[in-house]
Amino acid sequence: MTAKIIDGVAVGRKIRAECRERTTALQKSYGMTPGLAVIIVGENPASRIYVRNKVRASAEVGIRSTVFAFPVGVEPATIIAKIGELNADPQTHGILVQLPLPPQIRIDEVLGTISAEKDVDGFHLYNVGGLVIGNTVFPPCTPYGVVRLLEHENIPIEGQNVVVVGASNIVGKPMALMLMQRDATVCICHAKTRDLAQFTSLADILVVAAGRPNLIGPEMIRDGAVVIDVGINRLADGRLVGDVDFEGVRQKASYITPVPGGVGPMTVTMLLVNTIASAERIARRERKFDRAVGGL
Ligand code: NAP
Repeated sequence: MTAKIIDGVAVGRKIRAECRERTTALQKSYGMTPGLAVIIVGENPASRIYVRNKVRASAEVGIRSTVFAFPVGVEPATIIAKIGELNADPQTHGILVQLPLPPQIRIDEVLGTISAEKDVDGFHLYNVGGLVIGNTVFPPCTPYGVVRLLEHENIPIEGQNVVVVGASNIVGKPMALMLMQRDATVCICHAKTRDLAQFTSLADILVVAAGRPNLIGPEMIRDGAVVIDVGINRLADGRLVGDVDFEGVRQKASYITPVPGGVGPMTVTMLLVNTIASAERIARRERKFDRAVGGL
């Protein structure tokens, strides 16, 4: 068997075309342009590239994005004050803080000040709690992108054995919760899991997000498994690879995502989707409010 390669660029392009239609409709019906505020601290080159990509993708679909860049030594209070302003700004429908942050800034303290209604990355505790009970406002972008890829390929989730390798707060844990919500049987593995292959070989759908090149070889998966590689690793020779031995595993899997060009483009796309969904929610609420006031 040779796996079908899931083309995240093409799926992302389709969803972005829908995003464009939704922003046009918002403009037409409500005179509203979705607004995304991006906060970045310091000079981390990878973070700067991610922010540049988010700004470019926003512009493509009709989202107005604004970047607030702070020097690496900035006081946490300065960031928190800016978030307070953005929470109150009616032109801003989504706020994200590009991670990582320098060590003097506590991530949870900063993320906790973002209004849960504008938390388009889905990292605020309110949204994390919503994910646990299956009722989140904003699903976190990377696992949301994985779900959309599976749906696009009509890959069944209900009743499937899913193994998620990686248990981080931004990928592994929310991924597991989102697939459990869709009635999969989910197992989460991490760095201290004994005999990883014992678990991965049970997976109908294997999602790998560990940040370890070549962690998963063909001997670790079952015939016909769906393999989603979230990992992004830069090798010494400059090549970008995932966590999966792509050439080996694709001979045995039924579907596989490449790196680059698989999950990565979906992450940015789902940020656009969340930002537009936020603007739509606010627009609908304001219209209801206008009607209520007009009817008085
Ligand atoms: P992270 O915070 O470093 O978490 C890595 C997770 O993998 C941890 O739970 C860790 O276990 C586990 N792990 C590490 N080595 C392992 C091993 N040998 N066997 C099993 N589990 C292992 O990373 P992250 O932020 O979740 O990101 C994971 C990867 O996805 C990275 O390569 C990152 O660049 C990539 N990523 C890609 C996208 C995208 O859009 N494609 C988005 C986000 C992240 P412990 O908990 O026990 O330490």
